[in-house]
Amino acid sequence: MEEISLYRKYRPHNFDNLVGQDHVKITLMNAFKSGHVSHAYLFTGPRGTGKTSTARLLAKALNCQNLKDSFEPCGECEFCKEIGEGRLIDLIEIDAASNRGIDEVRDLKEKINFAPTRSKVKVYIIDEVHMMTKEAFNALLKTLEEPPAHAYFILATTEAHKIPETIISRCQRFDFKRITTKALMTRLSYISQLEGITADDRALEAISKYVNGGLRDAIGLLEQLTLDNKLDLERVQELLGISGLSLLENMYEALMKNQTKGALSIINELHIQGSDFRQFSHEFVDLLRNKMLEAVVAEDRRSLARLIKMIEVLQKAQQRLDADIPQLALEIAVIELTNNLEEFQPVKVEQKVAEVEKVVAVAVTVPQERPHQAIVKTTTVENVPNVPIDLTMANILQNWPRVVERIKTPSLRNSLKNGKPVSLDGAELTLQFATNFHKDKVFESGHRVELEGVIQEIFKHAVKVTALVKTVEIKSVVEDEVEVQPVIADSSSVEDALEMFGGKVVE
Ligand SMILES: [Zn+2]
Repeated sequence: MEEISLYRKYRPHNFDNLVGQDHVKITLMNAFKSGHVSHAYLFTGPRGTGKTSTARLLAKALNCQNLKDSFEPCGECEFCKEIGEGRLIDLIEIDAASNRGIDEVRDLKEKINFAPTRSKVKVYIIDEVHMMTKEAFNALLKTLEEPPAHAYFILATTEAHKIPETIISRCQRFDFKRITTKALMTRLSYISQLEGITADDRALEAISKYVNGGLRDAIGLLEQLTLDNKLDLERVQELLGISGLSLLENMYEALMKNQTKGALSIINELHIQGSDFRQFSHEFVDLLRNKMLEAVVAEDRRSLARLIKMIEVLQKAQQRLDADIPQLALEIAVIELTNNLEEFQPVKVEQKVAEVEKVVAVAVTVPQERPHQAIVKTTTVENVPNVPIDLTMANILQNWPRVVERIKTPSLRNSLKNGKPVSLDGAELTLQFATNFHKDKVFESGHRVELEGVIQEIFKHAVKVTALVKTVEIKSVVEDEVEVQPVIADSSSVEDALEMFGGKVVE
């Protein structure tokens, strides 16, 4: 017995079996029922979504001798059978990719006016029609303008934008959609059952996601990857170069926790495994997209902003994936996402002065018995961005300058410099201000969200900020050059700090 591929075996034999293209199915069905079948159709859409199969179904329906319900080919009459076996002489399939359609269209023009040999109508299916030459298109156009009553055309293409407008306007156009993962899985599962294949659902899912909406590819892979009537996930992942879920999840974790080294080691692992970086980043963006949609449902605006940023950076990286050093673009992307790169810019003199002032201020607020240690700690934290810090009042005071520095809204930053953290109750942080003006600034729309976002970024802990006004002397932990007089720490701390940064006090 001749061995036929699963795809040919499970290609739709009637409209009822056509997967994932309901809009096409319904419109064609109605055309048959009302007797208004067009003489020229243009089927566009990604590969493997059923364009050619639908064209053959249409040819069957036009020729069938016992149409069911006025549209469904019977599958049993001689014409249905001959079309099914690819040997009906009045169904002419032209592959425009083969020699750009020149000879075929010439031949078509010569013969089109002859009546069909045996069947009711002649059907021309021109596949990859966008490959035709300009001359071939012109010749075809003349025919499409006045087709003989016995002739029908179905043009199929993956690239509709390459087809002249004059041709498109002569055709009824159908856009074939990518078939959803769920619909693909259902179909693969159905075929597996009939073929006696024991298939892991996760393997079917992996194939369905991999093929990007193409049923032909999905069935082809099902056939190729099945071994001894079994389809298991590991084999599918290995042969398709798909990353296991754990690597994707690990990458997600590493990025969310700003772990540069962790993220880079995952990329290295992928490289050693010989994985396809394009495929990995595609899957990863898909994972981020799901997380993004979850965040929308949960109204988690903070995660949402971060996820959108991650997707943008990774999409940029995808465009730059290069063949020589395939992992480079991805490495740059994860470094960018796990670091606040502004912190790596060359330090300017003004910044040095600001650093000195911060260290001085911190020295004031940390317990006085260990001022030197406090300074060392502060600078360590400053130099290693995004290390999670325990949420304690002492750490908040110590890192408050970092918080203020990261605030992007100038008026909020300025108001924060006029206040200070005074207490921490669980995750509720109270700030104290000398005036209502500055307190109110912090609670203006969006400001508190921004502040809480920055605190979470540094402490990896959600914090609710409240504030009070106390009209006594406020010792700000961040000194403002213009408005506030610096609170001078004991002189040894200042000297230590100056020595460390190589600055000097400007009076
Ligand atoms: Zn039939």
